[in-house]
Amino acid sequence: MTELPPVLRKVVAGETCAGCGLCAGVDPGIAMARDARGFLRPRATAAPAPETDALMAAACPGARVAPWGEAPAVDPLWGPYHRCLTGFATDREIRHTASSGGVLSALALHLLETGAADRVLHAAMDPKQPLLTAIARSTSRNDVVRAAGSRYAPAAPLAELEAELARPGRIVFIGKPCDAGALRLYLSVRPEHRDRFAAILSFFCAGTPSQLGTDRIIERLGVAPRQVAAFRYRGDGWPGYATAVLADGTSRRLSYAESWGGILSKEVQFRCKICPDAVGGVADVAAADAWYGGETGYPSFDEAEGRSLILTRTARGDRLVAEAEAAGVLATSPLDPGEIEKMQPSQARRKRHLSARMAAVRLTGGFAPHMAGLRLAEAAADERLLPRLKATAGLVRRILQGRR
Ligand SMILES: Cc1cc2nc3c(=O)[nH]c(=O)nc-3n(C[C@H](O)[C@H](O)[C@H](O)COP(=O)(O)OP(=O)(O)OC[C@H]3O[C@@H](n4cnc5c(N)ncnc54)[C@H](O)[C@@H]3O)c2cc1C
Repeated sequence: MTELPPVLRKVVAGETCAGCGLCAGVDPGIAMARDARGFLRPRATAAPAPETDALMAAACPGARVAPWGEAPAVDPLWGPYHRCLTGFATDREIRHTASSGGVLSALALHLLETGAADRVLHAAMDPKQPLLTAIARSTSRNDVVRAAGSRYAPAAPLAELEAELARPGRIVFIGKPCDAGALRLYLSVRPEHRDRFAAILSFFCAGTPSQLGTDRIIERLGVAPRQVAAFRYRGDGWPGYATAVLADGTSRRLSYAESWGGILSKEVQFRCKICPDAVGGVADVAAADAWYGGETGYPSFDEAEGRSLILTRTARGDRLVAEAEAAGVLATSPLDPGEIEKMQPSQARRKRHLSARMAAVRLTGGFAPHMAGLRLAEAAADERLLPRLKATAGLVRRILQGRR
């Protein structure tokens, strides 16, 4: 029967699908396809394998969110960490091209160049359809530089996972927190593949916007989609501009505040609004924008030289960053974890309100992914009752109005 397995049907109907592609990556009877709202969702193309349902119950991030691991410090808002740093890639091209300080690209390249990994599995502009995002497999410096920068659009980096594992070689995986969490849970069910990953890297994530958000940016830039030869959301500076390079070699651009703040942030899928680990807590290393404070007390998006926040989350991740520092690949400075909230105030608020939002999902009879081991109660205890009640009431209202 060409129907998704029961767990995935609940996930898709409950809008808790993150679009990571794990289901398609383990079952040839499932493919990821863009739905009418511009999100990547699984579709059954043949009868799914009998074991897929149990695997999805254990590892699909729409059904179960990977719990944080042990570390010397575990912060309810920022997750487990060995060290908290700011830093940047010393390679000037990587620092400039990347999203913030180029830390993730520099770490991946370091693993390739030292022979610890054979390729990087991540996401980049689709070379054939530049407004879309595709799986990237990088084996050289050029590849890594080309894939640097954030793609604020649906991307399913796990959608070819088992085909990837069928090829020889060690892999560095870079993905969103949900992608990294899905991979961790998959590896807990299939431990024979654990050694194939030299590192799992992630970043703080405010959510995946619909592909329709990209369409709106292109419309705002006043160009036709067919004119676009290349498109990036940011980078080439920090934060850099959403830039469309046209076939005639000219380019049009929109500031980060206009593209992310004005358009993309309003197009984020529901799963991300109830994400209890938007900080990449299960990665070996997580990076984020180490924004400087603005006059309003909120981060300033004035152009500057890229700087990342770095949390080394596992012993392996801490060793990797230490090696990259010793090799002169990364320049870092220690950061007091109390400073993170000034750089990432929205992430702090999101986590404090998470259990209030989950209460809204349950009150309205929605499907709630299993979320244990992510310090939700501690994060909520940090917030006053009234804002939490407002968060529940606000989400109940939006759900009842069909505006998740
Ligand atoms: C949807 C989204 C939301 C984000 N929200 C936040 C946020 O709230 N706060 C914050 O500080 N940072 C956020 N970021 C991350 C931030 O933009 C930087 O990625 C982070 O600062 C690391 O920077 P870097 O210079 O080290 O990364 P880079 O060296 O530029 O490397 C980025 C890596 O991410 C991979 N990648 C890019 N887009 C995707 C995607 N859609 N799915 C999977 N992998 C991808 C690339 O392949 C590349 O390997 C977000 C990124 C995305 C894609």
